[in-house]
Amino acid sequence: QLSKRLAAAARFVPNDARLADIGSDHAYLPVYLVKEGIIDYAIAGEVVEGPYQSAITEISEQKLTTNIEARLGDGLEVVQPEDQIDVVTICGMGGKLIAEILARGLNNQHFNQFPLLVLQPNVWEPGLRKWLLNHQYDIVAETVVAEHHKYYEIIVAKPTETPSSWTEDELLFGRFSKRTAPEDFKEKWQHVYEQYGQILSHFKETNNQESLTKKAEMINYRNKIKQCL
Ligand code: SAM
Repeated sequence: QLSKRLAAAARFVPNDARLADIGSDHAYLPVYLVKEGIIDYAIAGEVVEGPYQSAITEISEQKLTTNIEARLGDGLEVVQPEDQIDVVTICGMGGKLIAEILARGLNNQHFNQFPLLVLQPNVWEPGLRKWLLNHQYDIVAETVVAEHHKYYEIIVAKPTETPSSWTEDELLFGRFSKRTAPEDFKEKWQHVYEQYGQILSHFKETNNQESLTKKAEMINYRNKIKQCL
C-alpha cells in the first residue's frame, strides 16, 4: 500500500499525464498511478544504481514494463523531448536538491513544453516556493500530510509567463494548505511551535550578541506561527 505521503502527491497527477518521477527509488508512485488507471506512461528516474535496480524489480514484478521505464541518470537528464513528458514528480528529497534538479533540467533539451510539477520537499519548503515563483512557475495547489508524526508538504506548480507574488508569510506557510488540510496544517505548525519553545527554554542567559539575535529570531518565528494558527 502506498504511503499517505505519496498518495497525497498522487492525487495531484492529472489523468493521462505522461509522467517522469525523478528519484523514484522503488517506483511506487508511478506503479500506483498506472495500476489505478490514472496514467499509462511513466519514466522512473534514478541516479543511484541500488534504487534503480529496485525500480526495475518492482516494475517487472507488477508486470508494468510496457507502461513504466526505469532510467538511470541524474535528475531530468533521463527525459528526452520525444518522451512528451508533461508532468514531473519529485518526492522525498530536500527542497534545495529539488530546486537544483529543476534548475539544471527544465529546458528544451528535455522538454517540448514546461511540465506541471508535483513536488514533495522534506525540508526547505519556503526556499523552493521562492525558487518556483522566480522561475516562471506559479504555485497552484498545496497540501500538507501528517504521517508517523512527520509532516510533509506537497507543492504543485504550473508554468506561467506571469508568476504571482507571495509575501514572506505565504512563502513560509504556503497559501493553500491551511484551507486544504486544516487539521494536518495545524498539527504541523503546533509541532514546530512547541519544538522552538523547547529550544528556547534551553537558551542560557547570555550577553553574546549572536545568541541574542538568534533568540530574537526564534521568538519572532514563534510569534508568526502563533498568529497563523
Ligand atoms: N521518491 C521516492 C519517495 O518519495 O518515496 C523516493 C525518495 S528517496 C528518499 C530519494 C531518492 O532520490 C533516492 O533513491 C535517491 O537515489 C534519488 N536521487 C537523489 N538525487 C537524485 C538525482 N539527482 N537524480 C535522480 N535521483 C536522485
